[in-house]
Amino acid sequence: MTKSYGEGEARSQVLRGVSFDVDPGEFVALVGQSGSGKSTLLNIIGGLDHPDDGEVEVLGVDTIKASDSRKARLRNESIGFVFQAFNLLDHLTCLDNVTIPASFAHGVKNVEQRGKDALARVGLERFGGRYPGELSGGQKQRVAIARALFGAPSLLLCDEPTGNLDSETGKEVIDFFRELNEKDDVTLVIVTHERRVSSIAKRVIAMRDGMLVETSDEALAATGAGPS
Ligand code: ADP
Ligand code: MG
Repeated sequence: MTKSYGEGEARSQVLRGVSFDVDPGEFVALVGQSGSGKSTLLNIIGGLDHPDDGEVEVLGVDTIKASDSRKARLRNESIGFVFQAFNLLDHLTCLDNVTIPASFAHGVKNVEQRGKDALARVGLERFGGRYPGELSGGQKQRVAIARALFGAPSLLLCDEPTGNLDSETGKEVIDFFRELNEKDDVTLVIVTHERRVSSIAKRVIAMRDGMLVETSDEALAATGAGPS
C-alpha cells in the first residue's frame, strides 16, 4: 500500500509500497525513526485510516472495500488498540472507560460483568469505581489495556504503549503482552522504541524510507539503529 499526506509542494509520501503479512498468533515489533510512518501503518491496519492505494485484509475482511458498519464491527469485536497516551476519559470511572466499546456496538450482553472481568485480567479488579486522575501511569495503561481487551480481540495493535511509562512499569506492561500472546494466542503488533520489546518479539519489522524491511533484534543492536 501507499500513503501520502498533503498536497503539491507539501505532499509527503509516508508509505511508498509497504507489503507484509502477519500470521495469527504472531508477536511483531514494528520499529523505525520518529516520523517514519509507524502510526500511519498501524492506523491503517486497524481501519482508523486508509491508504491511497493498495489492499488491506484484516482477519479476512477487506477493509478498503468493506462498509463502515462492517469495519466498525471488526474493530469492536476483533481488534484492540493501546496508545502511548492511554486515551482514557477523565470524567468516567475506570469501569466506564473499559466498557466504552460496548456503547459503540449493539446488543453487547453482561457489559458490567465483562468490564469487571477485563479489569481483573490486568490486576485492577478493585479500581472500577475510581477515576483515571487517581491512578499512576502504569495503572492508567492497564485500564487502557482492559478496555482494549473488553471485546476479546484476536488482534491487539499497540502504538508505543510503554512510551509514557517508567522502565519498571513498562516492563510489567510488556510482560503482560507477552503472556497475552503466549497464553491467549492474541496476535500482537507493537510499535516500539524499546529494545526490551523487540528482544521478546518473534519478528521485528523496521520502517525505513517508507518501506518495510524484516530485521532482527540482533541486527538492530549491531547497527545501533532502531530501539534503544
Ligand atoms: P511515526 O509514528 O513513525 O512517528 P507517523 O505515521 O505518525 O510516524 O507520521 C509519518 C509522517 O506523516 C510524519 O512526517 C507526519 O508528520 C506525517 N503525518 C502523519 N499524520 C498526518 C496527518 N494527519 N496529516 C499530515 N501529515 C501527517
Ligand atoms: Mg507514531
